[in-house]
Amino acid sequence: MAKKLNHCSFCGRSEKDVALMLNGLNGFICNDCVEMAHQMVSENMRNNKKSTYDIEKPLMRPAEIKAKLDEYVIGQDEAKIALSVAVYNHYKRLRQQALINKKEEDDVEIEKSNIIMIGSTGTGKTLLARTIAKMLDVPFSIVDATVLTEAGYVGEDVESILSRLLQAADYDQPRAERGIVFIDEIDKIARKGDNPSITRDVSGEGVQQGLLKLLEGSIVNVPPKGGRKHPDQDYVHMDTRNILFICGGAFDGIERKIAQRMNTHTVGYNNVSVRHNIDSKNLLKYIQPQDLKSFGLIPELIGRLPALTYLRPLDREALRNILTEPKNSLIRQQKKLFAMDGVELEFTPEALEAMVDKAMERNLGARGLRGIVESVMTDLQFSTPGTDCQKLTITAEYVHDQLSKSEVL
Ligand code: ADP
Repeated sequence: MAKKLNHCSFCGRSEKDVALMLNGLNGFICNDCVEMAHQMVSENMRNNKKSTYDIEKPLMRPAEIKAKLDEYVIGQDEAKIALSVAVYNHYKRLRQQALINKKEEDDVEIEKSNIIMIGSTGTGKTLLARTIAKMLDVPFSIVDATVLTEAGYVGEDVESILSRLLQAADYDQPRAERGIVFIDEIDKIARKGDNPSITRDVSGEGVQQGLLKLLEGSIVNVPPKGGRKHPDQDYVHMDTRNILFICGGAFDGIERKIAQRMNTHTVGYNNVSVRHNIDSKNLLKYIQPQDLKSFGLIPELIGRLPALTYLRPLDREALRNILTEPKNSLIRQQKKLFAMDGVELEFTPEALEAMVDKAMERNLGARGLRGIVESVMTDLQFSTPGTDCQKLTITAEYVHDQLSKSEVL
C-alpha cells in the first residue's frame, strides 16, 4: 500500500511538491510557508516598531549628556554644553508635542533649536554630532553641503538630505522624523561677498534658501531613494518639525570678521579696558550671529540656527589626550587589534609624543593623527600575525623610522 503523503496545513501542497515538510502536533508546514510566515512576522514587527515618541522615557539631563560626550570627545567644553542643552530642549519639545497631540497640554509651544558649530577641520564637530546620535539612539545622517545645489543644476536637491535620514532609519518614517541631521561644510554655501548678488549664485544662496524650509519645519516631498527629484517619482511627505539639524563648518577667516566687529564696537571710552580683556588667540569664542552674516550666510538661515557654538583648535595636550583617552581612542583600537592576535602592545610616552609632534607639524587637527598611527603600525600589522611574538613596545625611534619611510615614498 502506498505511503500516505503529508500535506502542508497552510498551502495544501503535498510533501513531494516541496523541498521540506515540518510536522507539528496537529499539522504540517512546508519550507515555502515557513519563509513567507517569517517575512510577514518581520514586517509586522517593523510596523509595530513605528511607535510614536515615548513620553514615559526619562530624559537624559544636560550634565549626563555632557558626561557621555566626555567619554569620546576631548575638550571642547563650550560646544558640548551648547549641544547638551540644545538636545535636552529638543527632547523636551518632543515630549510637549506628544502631550499636545494627546490634548493633555496646549501650553506655550517650544521652538526648535537647531545648532551651528564653528571650528577648524578635525576638531571634533562630526564626532560630537555622531556621538550624540549614538547616545540617543536616533537615526543620524551626515551630508556635505557642497554637494547640494539649487534645483535645476548638477548636484543633489536639498531634499536628498532627508532621503538619507530615511535610509538611516530603515524607512521607518516616524523614527526618521525624530532624527538628527549633520550638515557639514555649511560655510561652503556662503554667499560670496556681503551684498546679495544680482547674478545667479548656483552653489550658495539658492541652497541656503532651499535649506530654510527644511530647517524651520514643514512638510517636504522627499524622493525616498535620494538624488534628483523628477515628476514621475513617488514622494514621501516628511515632516521636519522634529528633526534636529546640526550644522558645522570651518568658516576660514571668520576671525577677521569678528575682529573687525569687535574693533568697531570697542571704539569709545572704556575701549582700552575692553580690548585688554580680549583673548586675541581665540577670537572664535566671541562669535555672534552677525559674523555669520558678514561671512555670507543669509539672515533667515542664521535665524533658524539659534544655538551657535564654537570648537577650539586642538593644542598639543589635546592631541596627546585624543591618542589615548577616549573610549575608542586610536591607541586603544591598535591595542585591541594586536590583542586579537594574542600580542600585547605598548607605546612608550616618547613614542606618543613623537606622533603628536608629527600631527602638530601636519596641522590637520586630530584628523592627521589617524594617518600617523596607521603609518607607524602598518608594517607590524602585516608581519606580526602568525609569529610567536607576545609583546611589542613601540618606541620613539621606531615611530621616527616608520614616519620617515612613509614620507620618502
Ligand atoms: P571635523 O568634523 O571637526 O572636521 P571630526 O569630528 O571628523 O572633525 O574629527 C576627525 C577625527 O579626529 C575624528 O574621527 C576623531 O577621531 C578625531 N577627533 C577630532 N577632534 C577630537 C576630539 N576633540 N576628541 C577626540 N577625538 C577627536
